[in-house]
Amino acid sequence: MIKFGFQSSKYNNLTLEQELQFSDNNKIDFFDVFFDDYHPDDIKNVSLPETFTVHLPGGFAKFPQSEQLKYIDFINRCGPKTVTSHFCDFSFESLEFLCRNVNNSRLCIENTPPDWNETFSKNYLDFMKAANEFTSQKGLKIYATFDTGHAKVAGHEPVSYLKQLIENDIDIFTVHLHDNDGIQDSHRPAGSVYNGINFAAILEILNSINHDIYAVIEHWNNNYNALEYLKSL
Ligand SMILES: [Zn+2]
Repeated sequence: MIKFGFQSSKYNNLTLEQELQFSDNNKIDFFDVFFDDYHPDDIKNVSLPETFTVHLPGGFAKFPQSEQLKYIDFINRCGPKTVTSHFCDFSFESLEFLCRNVNNSRLCIENTPPDWNETFSKNYLDFMKAANEFTSQKGLKIYATFDTGHAKVAGHEPVSYLKQLIENDIDIFTVHLHDNDGIQDSHRPAGSVYNGINFAAILEILNSINHDIYAVIEHWNNNYNALEYLKSL
């Protein structure tokens, strides 16, 4: 089942409390805490909804381990359903470190533009295949965050790319829904781009996956319009 969620954003001038209230008012299924301009220490006194997910900051896998542990402590204490981190920053060592330390939340690795991980010398699909093999050898498990807009701006056709990921046993638990012009990762609302991503086809494919999918409406404005649009498909 697809669950729809809003995400905290540094671009909308709302506090995290205001964003949570906005989500609550719109009867959203879950909330995604994106640590893009604040730190776990900043939200000690914020009560989070029962169902929430976490998006780690860009470059997280390259942070010193002592800094990563501050986020991991928050994750292990508060229990988000999924934890997303960008694939481009990982080495084998940082992947194993995060996998071993995140307990009870699914670690989801996200596709990003450009479609390349320097350390692995691989694109996202090949990275995920190698990372799945590496972690399973160690008795660990990773999952995927599929970002529609990132797939498009990296030169993929998002619907066929999503099918390709699934055919290669990439287990998707989190999805980021947004669109762009194919040139800039501008996080435009679903349904707002002329000849945009076929979100109806994306949702149909996601609906065929037999576990919950946490679909984050990942734009910087008009979240409510996108939610209405996606629910109407
Ligand atoms: Zn994303």
